[in-house]
Amino acid sequence: GSIIDQIKFTGGKISRKKTVVKAVNNVTLNVQPGETLSVVGESGCGKSTLARTVMGLYRPNKGEIHYRGARIDNLSSNQMLPYRTKMQMVFQDPYASLNPRMTVKQILEEPVRFHNPSLTRAEIQDTVADVMLQVGVDPVWATNYPHEFSGGQRQRISIARALVLDPEFIAADEPIAALDVSIQAQILNLLMDAQEKRGLTYLFISHDLSVVEHISTRVAVMYLGCVCELATSKELFNNPQHPYTQALLSAIPKLGGSAGGHMKLSGDVPTPINLPTGCVFHGRCQFANERCTKEIPKQRTLETGSIVACHGVEEGRI
Ligand code: SF4
Ligand code: MG
Repeated sequence: GSIIDQIKFTGGKISRKKTVVKAVNNVTLNVQPGETLSVVGESGCGKSTLARTVMGLYRPNKGEIHYRGARIDNLSSNQMLPYRTKMQMVFQDPYASLNPRMTVKQILEEPVRFHNPSLTRAEIQDTVADVMLQVGVDPVWATNYPHEFSGGQRQRISIARALVLDPEFIAADEPIAALDVSIQAQILNLLMDAQEKRGLTYLFISHDLSVVEHISTRVAVMYLGCVCELATSKELFNNPQHPYTQALLSAIPKLGGSAGGHMKLSGDVPTPINLPTGCVFHGRCQFANERCTKEIPKQRTLETGSIVACHGVEEGRI
């Protein structure tokens, strides 16, 4: 079966602190074991909300999240504990996500001790040293604090913290976006390497299509809280169907070519709190017709296996 059998929810916009964050609208996805499912879209499209809702940081307003057959979106913190070892998250900003008052050793030992109370001190230290070596941070630095490391090293430490409990699923929210370009490939390689060695499953949140093309098994394209298109990486990049996917892809600069001839995205992104009627993309879509302004397009599976929510595609005019 799937790792995440069912991500099917609306909202995810009320955090446990009751703060209103970005909306997600009736998203339906599943994540297969060992795959990298990437979620792409412009900022504010709901992709971070999606990841955080899957991880239990936000509660969905409606709908359910299932992990290996068990519903997890309605669990208490205590009931969620066993999943806290299996499911981990890596955040965009490694500095904000690491406690500045704790040494690397403390940051990495604490979850191991908490989740494995029977381990001896020596066993905990060994586990931490192993994972530090795996992410390329010499264990001699274990007594240092996060601010004493570079951005890239800090992200390695965040990844170590995600790996130290030996999870099977990691949601990574823009894990390289805050890093120097020269460091990005190293961190990406580290994530890919860890996936291969440990058989990890990734939900990878990104706005960077060239990265996504490189690492993904499947890709979900989100716009204003909706999934417009869900396809294998190969199909999505070779044969994009939804006008929004086409617009996103045509904005990637091609080697040796100009960005000319590409479809322009006009208009502002409306706020997800006050969604347009019909297709959420209609205000920016050159193919929009009257039906598009009134009726929400349903997700339909094409012969290629791609899932697309677009009246124009359904009507065969795109
Ligand atoms: Fe464009 Fe209509 Fe398709 Fe929406 S449903 S993407 S407005 S053609
Ligand atoms: Mg985000």
